[in-house]
Amino acid sequence: MSPVLLITGASRGIGAATAVLAAKQGWAVAVNYTRDAQAAAHVVQEIRAKGGQAQAFQADVGIEADIERLFQSIDKDMGVLGGLVNNAGVLDVTARVDTTSWERLERIMRINVLGSFACAKQAVLRMSTAHGGKGGSIVNLSSVAATLGAPGQYVDYAASKGAIDTLTVGLAKEVATEGIRVNAVRPGLILTDIHASGGIPDRANQLAHQVPMQRPGTATEVAEAIVWLLSDAASYVTGTTIDVGGGR
Ligand code: NAP
Repeated sequence: MSPVLLITGASRGIGAATAVLAAKQGWAVAVNYTRDAQAAAHVVQEIRAKGGQAQAFQADVGIEADIERLFQSIDKDMGVLGGLVNNAGVLDVTARVDTTSWERLERIMRINVLGSFACAKQAVLRMSTAHGGKGGSIVNLSSVAATLGAPGQYVDYAASKGAIDTLTVGLAKEVATEGIRVNAVRPGLILTDIHASGGIPDRANQLAHQVPMQRPGTATEVAEAIVWLLSDAASYVTGTTIDVGGGR
């Protein structure tokens, strides 16, 4: 049986590209989405058309009860979990810290930070040998913004990704002897819909001149690093973060 991989936010962008690539490598992929059922169904169809295994699961990773339901549905419908990609993430429109509302902060931290922690918790409960599991691998989506700070744009989002970097290092050490590796990928400017939610759909192209490689990256270029970290080829790699940012 194929090992089961949950990718949160896999209906579009980096998550969708990772789902397609991971299925090609033999993972049975649980494609999580929150609103866009059609986009998730499209990813599932694409995987199945190529002979892979996938199923879509609706859940908002900003809600704990949804996360518990998501993992229980995967247990029931797909089998033993072997991997998690904490990919779902949001940002808000460009703003300075001195104009940031409490509601905005709460939403970003709830989805990006609490959601990743709670999904990691559920994955560890299933995969850790200390809990009777067979081991597995977790990859978290950070951002180059965590190191740059995103001043005048979204320091809140950047800080949420700083928390992801710390989760990666701490959890990796916590479960290192329990058969679980925990790593992260730090994308730079990648061509996805996320920039539209920040109010600048063409942001990745507009800022390409700041990238040493002078171009934005593609979702598949990020997916390649994620899928490698998930794989046995990375068997001695844990607690690390790979920058996929064209040198930025
Ligand atoms: P995207 O194109 O905006 O896609 C976001 C995905 O997350 C969609 O599948 C969306 O589902 C899902 N999602 C959003 N909120 C969710 C929630 N509360 N619960 C479950 N799923 C949710 O994003 P992306 O650019 O691929 O980004 C993926 C990850 O990479 C994020 O963590 C982001 O912070 C990180 N990243 C991206 C870039 C970049 O330049 N693109 C750079 C650095 C880091 P629906 O379709 O149902 O809405």
